Amino acid sequence: MSKKVAIIGSGVSSLASAVMLKEAGIDFVIYEKESQLGGKIKTEYINNFTIEAGPDSYLPEKFWSVQLIKKVGLEEEMLCSNDEHKGTFIYSNGKLHPLPEGVMLMVPTMIMPLLKSSLISWPGKIRMGLELFIPPKKDDSDESLAQFVTRRLGRECLEKIAEPLVAGIHTSNPDNMSVKATFPRFIEMEKKYGSLIKGMVQAMKNKPAPQQNAKKMTYFMSLKKGMEQLVEACKKFIGEDRIITNKQVVSITKDNAKFIIKTNDNFEDDYDYIIAGTPSYTTADIIKGFDPDLAKLLSRIEWSSSATISLAYKRDDINVDLKGFGFIVPKIENRRINACTWSSIKWSYRSPDDHILIRSFVGGGHHEELVNEGDEKLVDIVREELRDIVGIKAQPVLSKVYRWYNGMPKYTVGHLERIQEIDNYLKKHPGLYLIGCSYKGIGIGDCVKSGFDVASKIINNL
Ligand SMILES: Cc1cc2nc3c(=O)[nH]c(=O)nc-3n(C[C@H](O)[C@H](O)[C@H](O)COP(=O)(O)OP(=O)(O)OC[C@H]3O[C@@H](n4cnc5c(N)ncnc54)[C@H](O)[C@@H]3O)c2cc1C
Repeated sequence: MSKKVAIIGSGVSSLASAVMLKEAGIDFVIYEKESQLGGKIKTEYINNFTIEAGPDSYLPEKFWSVQLIKKVGLEEEMLCSNDEHKGTFIYSNGKLHPLPEGVMLMVPTMIMPLLKSSLISWPGKIRMGLELFIPPKKDDSDESLAQFVTRRLGRECLEKIAEPLVAGIHTSNPDNMSVKATFPRFIEMEKKYGSLIKGMVQAMKNKPAPQQNAKKMTYFMSLKKGMEQLVEACKKFIGEDRIITNKQVVSITKDNAKFIIKTNDNFEDDYDYIIAGTPSYTTADIIKGFDPDLAKLLSRIEWSSSATISLAYKRDDINVDLKGFGFIVPKIENRRINACTWSSIKWSYRSPDDHILIRSFVGGGHHEELVNEGDEKLVDIVREELRDIVGIKAQPVLSKVYRWYNGMPKYTVGHLERIQEIDNYLKKHPGLYLIGCSYKGIGIGDCVKSGFDVASKIINNL
């Protein structure tokens, strides 16, 4: 009898597994509790605006996302950012300052732009330059991002660049964010080159020249119809007959080598393989009946909540110059938004030509409590902040608020050790696999990789 596979959840990691299993001709079924697939990937089309509720891009550097896009036939739909407008601004002391040219993530790689920068004070610039001479850490223990950056590049770099830019990606607090789990590349550079600046400069030199006839890529990429286009293409590729929506898995139990799935409507079925693409706290809840210790470990992964607020304006109503792709706000500024993207400047196809679409972020590592405010209040907060920071006084013609309660896992110090422990527990349950943003990378590329890796294991087993 052929082996049965169940995939729980339909986030991008689950969809990646499903696409690969489908390609290999292996039978499976997806259980999704919502009526729609895609988890955090959600795009809404309203009055010719394309509004992203969750992720608005993927990094082609993490090539698994591009592999998935190609597998489901979307190569021609890949969308570069409008890099003629490229640039990040940082709000500091009442003004927007350009992130100095050559700063890669948080590491300066060019001297002149840093020296000329209005963002960093002279002592701060000198401290950043001294990174070249600071000896690497001797032991392998984990550190928080804050400890790491302060040790290497100084406090000002942490507060004005690393916190909003680097911790911001994780909507996390750098004081307890594991540098090993979130930016292992920095640790490798420190070890190999003795300095992040030297390591980053070397990495830029080693970057392979783009192949002739290769598709043009920008650092951030999207899809012409928004990120949900990927979900729709996966759905078509997988086939609707393998997808059950509005079906919440409430428990998994074990009967010898079989796993028994129970859903909220008391439906039961048994499987040889389970791929759980649900957030760690949900997976903990589902499996607690047959392995309470593993469930306890999973529930130790912490999560943060955030909201995205998209506002659309008539272009003529905005009397200020919107520079770059948007701006980020350091926590020390104590403002109520963390970041803001000029969505229709960064991307084509996001708004009618005579309008502008702007997306702001609230919560995460800054004032997480604001996520609980009502839609109207959140729109008011964002409007007040945009008025104070950028000078936008106009009335938006459209507003959309999306909340992501427990939407982003926090990879706190010790995360990798916890993941190792989880992996050890999983050895007791061959056939049970955990994938998705909770474990080994939050970005779409890493999630896709987790889905591909598990699908390959199952394909090899079968
Ligand atoms: C606001 C925001 C912006 C982001 N921006 C970016 C970005 O620009 N680029 C980037 O690379 N990443 C970004 N991310 C991160 C990235 O989007 C996520 O990490 C990724 O999409 C998570 O995918 P996943 O496969 O882990 O599952 P999820 O998307 O979390 O999906 C899990 C699925 O499981 C389902 N489910 C839950 N419980 C059950 C149950 N009991 N039974 C059945 N189904 C269940 C859920 O309904 C959901 O569909 C962003 C995240 C957020 C929140």
